[in-house]
Parts: sequence; C-alpha cells; structure tokens
Amino acid sequence: VTSPATLRTQLRSWLAANDLERWRGHPATVEETVVQHASLMRLLYDEGFARYGWPAQMGGLGGDERHRAVLYDELSRAQLPLPQQCLSLETLGPAVIRFAPELAAELHPRCLRGEEWWAQGFSEPEAGSDLASLRTRATPDADGYRINGQKIWTSHAVTARRIVMLTRTGTAEERHRGLTMLMVDADAPGITIRPVAMANGRNELAEVFFDDVPVPAARRIGAEGAGWTVAMYLLQWERAMYAWQSACTLFARFERLRSELRGTGSAPADAAARLGDCYLDLVELRARSVETITRLAAGETVGPEASVDKVLLARAEQGLHDAARDLRPASFAIGSAGDGSNQREWRDEWWYSRAASILGGSAEVQRGILADRVLNLPKI
Ligand SMILES: Cc1cc2nc3c(=O)[nH]c(=O)nc-3n(C[C@H](O)[C@H](O)[C@H](O)COP(=O)(O)OP(=O)(O)OC[C@H]3O[C@@H](n4cnc5c(N)ncnc54)[C@H](O)[C@@H]3O)c2cc1C
Repeated sequence: VTSPATLRTQLRSWLAANDLERWRGHPATVEETVVQHASLMRLLYDEGFARYGWPAQMGGLGGDERHRAVLYDELSRAQLPLPQQCLSLETLGPAVIRFAPELAAELHPRCLRGEEWWAQGFSEPEAGSDLASLRTRATPDADGYRINGQKIWTSHAVTARRIVMLTRTGTAEERHRGLTMLMVDADAPGITIRPVAMANGRNELAEVFFDDVPVPAARRIGAEGAGWTVAMYLLQWERAMYAWQSACTLFARFERLRSELRGTGSAPADAAARLGDCYLDLVELRARSVETITRLAAGETVGPEASVDKVLLARAEQGLHDAARDLRPASFAIGSAGDGSNQREWRDEWWYSRAASILGGSAEVQRGILADRVLNLPKI
C-alpha cells in the first residue's frame, strides 16, 4: 500500500496540476453544497485519492486513518472543501464496517463514489446529552423491525439516502442496555423528514418522524441490544476524526483570514495578537489530533479520551470565527445584498461555529466524561 507520505506527495502535485476552481466558493444552499461536494467526491474516487484508508472489500485501496487524514489535510491546504460525504463517512463508516461488514461491502463503495451519503439519527427531543433515555422504538416483526418515534437535529437528513439510528428494543428501565442500531432508507414508507433551518438560514438539520417504518433484519448494525457498544465505537471517529477534519478546514480559513487582513492595510491594531491566539489554539488541536489519529490507525481504543479533541476543537473553531467577525468588515453579522461568496461563507460559518460546543455532545458533557472516565475524579 502507498505510504501516507507518498500519498501526500502525489495528491499535492495532482491538486496543483488541475483546475479545481469550480469546487471553491460557497453555494447559497445546503442542498446545492452537498450536490457540489458529491461531484468532488466522485472525482477523488476516480483518481483513487478518496479510496485510500479504506479496506479493499469496502471499495477502498487499503491503508488506514492516516491516509484519510492526509486527504483532508491536502484538500484544505488547497482551499478546497472537505466533501460533506467524507464527514458523514468518517462518523458512521467505521462502525458499519466493524459491526455489519456485509452491509458495508454493499453500501460503503457507493458513499466513496459520492452516490449516496448517510445521516446519524441519535438525538431525540427528550434525549440529547442523556442519549440512553431515547424512546424511538424498534419492535421485532417477521421480516425485521417496525420503527415508531422521532429524531431531531439530524444533520443532512433532507438529502441523505439512509439514516443510521439508535432505537430502543428493550425497556426504558434498561437504559443503554436496551438499544439497537439500525440503518433505515430515508425514503422508506412511514418516514417524514422536515428541515430545520439553522440561525444562518441553511436547512442543514431536520426532524425525522417514524410511523411504523419497516426495516429488514439485514439492516441491523451489531447484535440486538448491543446498540450502545456500536454507538461508543462510532463516537471515537465522530469526535476524533471530525476534530481532525475540522482542524484542517480551520487552518485553511486561518490562512484566508491572514491574507485578507494583509491585503487591506487597515487591519485593527489587535489583529496580530488575535491571530496569534487563534494559531496557538489550532496548533494545539492539531498536535493532539495527530496523536489520536495515529492511535486509531494502530487499532487502539481511544474511547473517552476523544473528548479532549472535541473540547479543543470547539475552542479553536469559535475563537477563529470570533476573530474573523471582529477583524473583518462590519457587514459581517448582518450582511448586505452585495455580499460575495466569501463574505457569506464567513458569516454562515460564524453561525455554525456556535454549535461547535453542542454537536456531537456538548462541551460541558465532554468535560464531565473527562472528569469521570479519564481522570477518575471523585464525585462531589
Ligand atoms: C449543528 C448541530 C448538528 C447536530 N447533528 C446531529 C446529528 O447529525 N445527529 C444527531 O443525532 N444529533 C445531532 N445534533 C444534536 C446534538 O448531538 C445535541 O444537540 C447534543 O447532544 C445536546 O443535546 P440537547 O440539544 O438535547 O441538549 P441538552 O442535553 O438538553 O443540554 C442542554 C444543556 O444542558 C447541559 N447539560 C446536559 N447534561 C449535562 C450534564 N450531565 N453535565 C453538564 N451539563 C449538562 C448541556 O451542556 C447543554 O448546555 C446536532 C446538534 C447541532 C447543534
């Protein structure tokens, strides 16, 4: 298998040699963004770059997390977006491969080609931080299960082809022991998906209602009742790999902000100090993240320690976007009709960065996990 270092060299020269301008810029809607990203994903698949880091039987070319990390790093250095499809694949792919290899062999290659992508249906109106209290029920029947209930804050559910979701198959009292992970087609009968606009106006989130939705038994990920184990395995990538992907994107935005401020000649007096603080946060996140990815690549269990990456990410992401808000032109927050793609992107991403300390488990909850399960601090 090509080494991560060789992959980096090959990718860097391919990125420099090709005109990829159509993938830069910021489409006006989420729906346009994911379609545009899907075409980039397809190109990266055809060139082989998106296939490194995934097993051959899943449509990949072998290698490990380090290969995938190189792809995200180099795309960002070239000021290209990380395809949305890569973000969802990093969160959900490793768990589906590990706990439902036959299903993964069928569907994972389609994700790599950008033909489909999946949403993650964990949170419910009464079950966010306290995920083990979720109530969406999967009742066994002759062919598999019937699902009834509701999910909320499901990212990209509006355009996703399937939803990987945690359901309750046991009793409410069993809490995390009575859960089962299923993969459901987003167009299955009985599913209603309603977009939820974010503060930036983009329909990135959705609430999803399930009314007696049939799911074949072959769509179960892991054993019945083992949903929590699958979810905890999955969260390592959701927290650690997502932190790396975000660090790559944030470095690219940092570079953009720096060159924009250089160009104006009228940057505020504290600009250098603000940028310096952002840079330190980013380097800290990246240093930590390199270590975590190396551990994942070696097959180690990162477990609750991935919460460190998540906490560092939230600080770096919010700090950089706050600096951009304060140091860039004043129309930043409200916007005006003449705003170009770059200005709109900064504003949309500033709004999105507010969620960095909420999504994937809030910053308070991450600190609780670190206190209880990593540092073993006494309960007060
Ligand atoms: C942009 C975005 C995208 C998302 N995408 C998805 C997705 O794709 N799939 C999905 O399933 N979910 C998704 N979520 C939901 C996300 O996982 C939840 O919002 C998050 O877990 C918090 O749950 P909650 O919103 O119910 O808040 P709550 O759990 O109600 O928390 C409210 C407040 O109480 C605090 N709190 C709660 N419990 C504790 C505790 N034990 N210790 C200290 N403080 C505590 C929290 O920190 C928070 O400040 C997304 C959320 C956002 C904002």
